[in-house]
Amino acid sequence: MELTKKLLEIQTILRTVESTDPGQDKKVSPLQLPSIVVIGSQSSGKSSVLEAIVGQEFLPKGTNMVTRRPIELTLVNTPDSDEEYGEFPQLGLDRIRDFKQIQRTLHDLNMSVPESECVSDKPVELRIYSPHVPDLRLVDLPGYIQVVNRKQPPVLRQKIRDLCEGYLKQPNIILAVCAADVDLANSEALKASRRNDPLGMRTIGVITKVDMAEPDMAVHMLTQNEYPLHLGYIGVVCKPVREKAGKSSHEIVLSEAQYFQRHAEFRQPEVQVGVGTLRRKLVRVLEDSMRRSMSTLVDAVRSELEETKYQIKVQYNDERVSPESYMAESLDTLKQRFKAFQQQFGKPQLRSEVQKWLESRVMDVCAELYWSDPEIKQLSNQWDEDDDAFWDHRLSQASALLTKSGVGRWTTQMVVNLLMDSVASMVDGEPFAHHPETRNAVLNFSHEILRSKYHSTVDQVENTIKPFKYEVEVEPHEWKKALRRSSSLIDNEMRLCRQSLAEIRSSTPKKQLQQAMQFVRSAEKSGVDPVGQASDNDAVAPADEFGYAQFSPRLVRRAQQALMIQDRLTILHMRRKALNSSACASMDNKRFCPEVFLDVVAEKLAYNAVLFINFELLHDFFFQFPRELDSNLYYGKTLEQTREFACQNPRVGKQLALLERRAKLELVMGRLRELVRQQTAAEEQATPL
Ligand code: GDP
Repeated sequence: MELTKKLLEIQTILRTVESTDPGQDKKVSPLQLPSIVVIGSQSSGKSSVLEAIVGQEFLPKGTNMVTRRPIELTLVNTPDSDEEYGEFPQLGLDRIRDFKQIQRTLHDLNMSVPESECVSDKPVELRIYSPHVPDLRLVDLPGYIQVVNRKQPPVLRQKIRDLCEGYLKQPNIILAVCAADVDLANSEALKASRRNDPLGMRTIGVITKVDMAEPDMAVHMLTQNEYPLHLGYIGVVCKPVREKAGKSSHEIVLSEAQYFQRHAEFRQPEVQVGVGTLRRKLVRVLEDSMRRSMSTLVDAVRSELEETKYQIKVQYNDERVSPESYMAESLDTLKQRFKAFQQQFGKPQLRSEVQKWLESRVMDVCAELYWSDPEIKQLSNQWDEDDDAFWDHRLSQASALLTKSGVGRWTTQMVVNLLMDSVASMVDGEPFAHHPETRNAVLNFSHEILRSKYHSTVDQVENTIKPFKYEVEVEPHEWKKALRRSSSLIDNEMRLCRQSLAEIRSSTPKKQLQQAMQFVRSAEKSGVDPVGQASDNDAVAPADEFGYAQFSPRLVRRAQQALMIQDRLTILHMRRKALNSSACASMDNKRFCPEVFLDVVAEKLAYNAVLFINFELLHDFFFQFPRELDSNLYYGKTLEQTREFACQNPRVGKQLALLERRAKLELVMGRLRELVRQQTAAEEQATPL
């Protein structure tokens, strides 16, 4: 009893360890110990026998109830407890005390296999704990005997056969259930047993419904030698029997024990009857079989362990890892990336970003209000004091365009985008590419921190730049600096224009472009829409009746672009000269040097915006991010969640699986060694010197 119990415990661990040999049939894996496999045709009384062994009704019943999945049933004897309960370890269902619920669950699991598939080779694992059951491992096989006999596609028939025959192989013990009211010659269970155990060495015959046959006939069945089984036949009665009491018509109800007691035919020593006898036999046969399988198991575990250790060494160089360490390391990587970002993104970088943004706004405003104005030549060349008021007004318009364009919102949003992009790049690539949920969680809480600060930052920035909406005072040193900066901004603008022009020229034949540009210029002068004059194809068309050459719309558009850029370049050139002139050296002439003045404004806006964005948004973000990281992704994670996280990375998942496998095999190996030692000691004691 003890040996079976301990080996069953070992088997429970081994069930979670698959053989490393991919070609290995799991049902007869060397890592598996023998089980008792129960077979019998429908209505042979198979369920009744199983329930009689367990002492509980727990199997699904019903006229159409055909088992579609093997039920691997482990019975665990618990002598120190009165409790009887079942467990479905695969489903995480523990301690089900209501056997009706077990019956329902088995029914549902059975029905979850679609009828079209007929059977599934995914076994249902059920463990029953009770002080009244022996330690046993039984497998209730799908009703393959009755199912294969039906008209089914050959593929399905083969599937059922393969599934069942897998279980009927060595070293499993076959429990062949035959009803007493059916001739043994017709017993499908015995036929199946003979195919897999031709010598009848590991088959136990169970004759059910003994009460349905005349006692002497039943005794004959139990003792016959036509279908010899080395382990013999046992007769059982699994239902109360109604019999006439003597010669009167009065009926009495007999239990199994009373029935066999009542009929003297069953009292012969060679006749084995009763569920109790069956149980004891199963226990003894299983234990013997287990004992014989032990040395094979020890060898198999040892070789699996060596193989696993070898793989750990070759594939992972004996590196240590646990789900916790992997998770901590991953989050550490993120924290380090964040820290590095924090160190290189301080106030100066923030200012440079905000300034860059505002300077591009300055260029836009200049383009809109000045560079596109035909009067710009007059502003650049001959200043006329009469025009002062006009240009003063234009300058305040430009300044307002800059200060009132939602600087708070745009600069804050720009920084938020920049931070979000930086966080995204931190969680892109290894190791977070394997953890999309974690990546999203990081982006979400980052967004949340920034969102919670967004409005107050915008308001603060807007409040602080409010005075500049009305007046901007300029110091000489500010003007000087802005003059330098705006000159270089215009230089940059000119560079970009030249670049675009070069691109157009390089992608268009020179002569065509020149002609098209001439054509566009003349068309513009005479107020004709040049595109309307152009033909639809790309080729150059002959001159039309107005004397203009006709060009493809694409070419015309290029020519227009080229001319626009040329014009812009001329203006920029002019402006650059103006900024270089002595007039722009003095801030008194700011109305004539809008680029410089607007740059001063941009500088002031940037300074104030940065002050509050840094204080309100950036500081808070840098402070909260690592804390949110810990509370969202680290603390409170269950072992299972941590493991799930680690296994999302295939490399780590494989490594963890190997390490777990090694740990389990080492545990099993330790227990097996102890068992072998106990067995040898017991044998030595039993053997007289
Ligand atoms: P299974 O289809 O092989 O699982 O068979 P069941 O255990 O469901 O039994 C089929 C029928 O035989 C049921 O109606 C049982 O009540 C009946 N039965 C089972 N065992 C006995 C028995 O020992 N004696 C009698 N008379 N009927 C039995």
